[in-house]
Amino acid sequence: MKQRGKGSWHDLEKSEVERPQGAGTRRLRRLVVDVGACSRCCGCVELAPQLFRLRPDTDLIEVVDTTTIDEELVAEVMKFCPEDCIHWEED
Ligand code: SF4
Repeated sequence: MKQRGKGSWHDLEKSEVERPQGAGTRRLRRLVVDVGACSRCCGCVELAPQLFRLRPDTDLIEVVDTTTIDEELVAEVMKFCPEDCIHWEED
């Protein structure tokens, strides 16, 4: 289990990827990890490595850029996340 790294705790930059919300709409949703709240437990990476990764250079979780997101899997990972720091943001 990873612990918070010194220096990254105060970095509130969000990791996100945009995706269309539905056919015929221009609104976008972004899958976001609030890395300021993230404990780097890496549970999301273990459950969905195709969606999340721990960047070795920053020691922060990021959403992997992908064109296909399995919403059921995202919902499962959101429920699992102990810090409740994975969510959708809408424009
Ligand atoms: S499951 Fe949540 S707390 Fe754990 S690394 Fe992923 S985003 Fe961070």
